[in-house]
Amino acid sequence: MGIVVQKYGGSSVADADGIKRVAQRIVNTKKQGHEVVVVVSAMGDTTDDLRDLAEQVTPLPPPRELDMLLTAGERISMALLAMAVSSLGHEAQSFTGSQAGVITDSVHGKAKIIDITPGRIQSAIDEGHVAIVAGFQGVSQDTKDVTTLGRGASDTTAVALAAALGAEVCEIYTDVAGVFTADPRIVPAARKLDRVSHEEMLEMAASGAKILHLRCVEYARRYDVPIHVRTSFDTIEGTWVLPDTAEEGDTVEQAIIAGVAHDRSEAKITVVGVPDKVGEAARIFEVLAASEVNIDMVVQNVSAAATARTDISFTLPREDGQVAMAALAKIQDEVGYDKLLFDDRVGKVSLIGAGMRSHPGITAKFFAALAAAGVNIEMISTSEIRISVIVDEGQIDTAVRATHTAFDLDADEVEAVVYGGTGR
Ligand code: ASP
Ligand code: MG
Repeated sequence: MGIVVQKYGGSSVADADGIKRVAQRIVNTKKQGHEVVVVVSAMGDTTDDLRDLAEQVTPLPPPRELDMLLTAGERISMALLAMAVSSLGHEAQSFTGSQAGVITDSVHGKAKIIDITPGRIQSAIDEGHVAIVAGFQGVSQDTKDVTTLGRGASDTTAVALAAALGAEVCEIYTDVAGVFTADPRIVPAARKLDRVSHEEMLEMAASGAKILHLRCVEYARRYDVPIHVRTSFDTIEGTWVLPDTAEEGDTVEQAIIAGVAHDRSEAKITVVGVPDKVGEAARIFEVLAASEVNIDMVVQNVSAAATARTDISFTLPREDGQVAMAALAKIQDEVGYDKLLFDDRVGKVSLIGAGMRSHPGITAKFFAALAAAGVNIEMISTSEIRISVIVDEGQIDTAVRATHTAFDLDADEVEAVVYGGTGR
């Protein structure tokens, strides 16, 4: 039997009892004959608490020190978990990201993994030990400083390690029983999916479904790592996230819609009165790129004939709002636009499904459902297998529920169980 990588999120190890329960689970997997590598998050809301603490000390903590602070959260849980496994009579060793060979670039707060050299992990499991790795952290190749990979990135650590070790599966343990057709906290009748393709999961993660970290799914797709998302509070099967194997002529028809996702983390900026000249849009987005701001949706209107000016709106992560506004303000004279508008009271609702490629009418049905629920659409964007709309923040829940019902996704019986976590 091969290597199993198990990742336990903060809610699974929120307290001493949780840690003991997880340790028992690890030991059970080991007893089945697997070699077990565990990736663990910080206990409960530790990462948020550490952040809050830093902000009480200074409003702008130096990024290097903030990473040093935040990585302490995972060190606590990994050591306690190793102790708990040892107390059950199985050898366990914990490793920081750096010790586990997680090599990153040097961008504090959102470092990217550039290589994994899991020599020490391999040796530990070769000796029959359980290896426990701190999630969400690595070490910069250039500066040798400790880095963090971005919020929720322990998933990425787990999948990257699974790929590097050639694991047979990466199990992601969380506080819900799998991937659902919508967030069960909003739609109690959401259904658990038995399987979902990497491609659909990628769109769901990018659309705000918090179940898996976006980069972890990208990694899984690139290296063909099967992911099993399940809860640590129960032994039931969760959702398998697998390569898209649907082929032409498949007798079993794929579900058209995989689910409805929502995102409350975006804001909208409108650049009002941009002169309709070649190169203006390029200039605006160059400045944003130089400030490391990730843009999501972009909408530009036809310019009004009388003024030869147009408005450009785009969405971006809320937390990048100030940086983006400041960067754009600097080029006001150069570009010659009138003013900037910032709106952080928006939300994104997305409908995802590989089957929409070959089924017409999905967009019409989606928009009709929103209209019937009285939800106004502010922006629209699509991919081959996704339709997203920006709506007023106060209407997100209504929009998600209406869409879920319109596409017949509601289960007859409530099956979603949310085991813990604050969703913070
Ligand atoms: N502890 C980190 C966070 O809360 C990483 C993780 O949980 O995956 O973002
Ligand atoms: Mg966490």
